[in-house]
Amino acid sequence: MERDETENKSAKLAEALKRGWRMLSETCPRCGSPLFQAGDEVVCAVCGTKYVLVSSEEEAAEARAMYSLMALRDALIGLLDRSVRSIEVGEVDHQEISRVREIVETVEVIERILREYRQGGQRRR
Ligand SMILES: [Zn+2]
Repeated sequence: MERDETENKSAKLAEALKRGWRMLSETCPRCGSPLFQAGDEVVCAVCGTKYVLVSSEEEAAEARAMYSLMALRDALIGLLDRSVRSIEVGEVDHQEISRVREIVETVEVIERILREYRQGGQRRR
């Protein structure tokens, strides 16, 4: 078991290098493996967790806020799925429709903020 895990980890690290990912000096806070730069992303080759590397507390706070917004967007889209189902079965009233509109508008606002954040990140680079 122990030996298998070590072999598995080595295989994943070798795979990451084969893909041309660059090994970084930072390690994964979750599993302690070295992190890799894979294109625009920083990823742990072993447990698959993705990270955003930041150079200041301010950037870290910004990245955390963006993650919260992404989670909120995903939750709102989940709510939309539920509304779509109730509309499909004909359980639709005025309240439901204005609720859907509010959700869509909120998702749009979040998407805009996330887009601006990503573009800002590219400018900084
Ligand atoms: Zn990891």
